[in-house]
Amino acid sequence: MKVNQQAVKEILKDVSPAKLVAATKYVDEKEIEELEKCGCFYFGENRVQAFMDKYEKYHGQGHWHFIGTLQKNKVKYIIDKVDLIHSVNDYGLLDELEKQASKRDIEVHILLQVNIAREESKHGFDEDDMDNVMAYLKNCSHLIVDGLMMMAPNIEVEDTRIYFQKTKQLLDRLKNAYPQYPLNELSMGMSQDYKVALEEGATIVRIGRALFQEDE
Ligand SMILES: *Cc1c(COP(=O)(O)O)cnc(C)c1O
Repeated sequence: MKVNQQAVKEILKDVSPAKLVAATKYVDEKEIEELEKCGCFYFGENRVQAFMDKYEKYHGQGHWHFIGTLQKNKVKYIIDKVDLIHSVNDYGLLDELEKQASKRDIEVHILLQVNIAREESKHGFDEDDMDNVMAYLKNCSHLIVDGLMMMAPNIEVEDTRIYFQKTKQLLDRLKNAYPQYPLNELSMGMSQDYKVALEEGATIVRIGRALFQEDE
């Protein structure tokens, strides 16, 4: 796959002022540098090994986010290289992030992933557990909760709206209840549903396929 420059420019315009995080799992570091030439400066990888490879070879000014399922034993490889980890989805991971952050004496920005549609196949905290999670974060002084992340169910786009709305309501509730955290960011929306997600308050969209095209 390679960058579709026209599409990138249109999507950047469409998405603004929300932040476009390009899901770069489909491409190599050369294409990531092409993305940057189009004005896209945030790259999200969902696998640690692929991230490490591209991070090493990439020579640009952009910023990296981690957007995929993160195993505890791999936290140490990425923690000081990414600006934001979108996919924090269990207590063990919070412990490990706190441990590795305190070891390095750095602050780590995270989003809490919520399984808002309660799908068996998806990761994320249950909505009803969020107050426990926020209480647990008292032990994690190096972690800064910037907001929430969700993945919509793979159903008709218009039917996903309710899940975006629910996530936004949850964010607003948490922001009121826990003013010690920023809780400003809502990472939701992908190629197929980002327009709906933006209408419902997404501040970050993670888009892959729509930015790229097949090689000739
Ligand atoms: C690949 C990926 C995306 C983007 O999905 P597209 O359908 O390619 O837009 C978003 N979030 C995560 C976690 C991903 O792995």
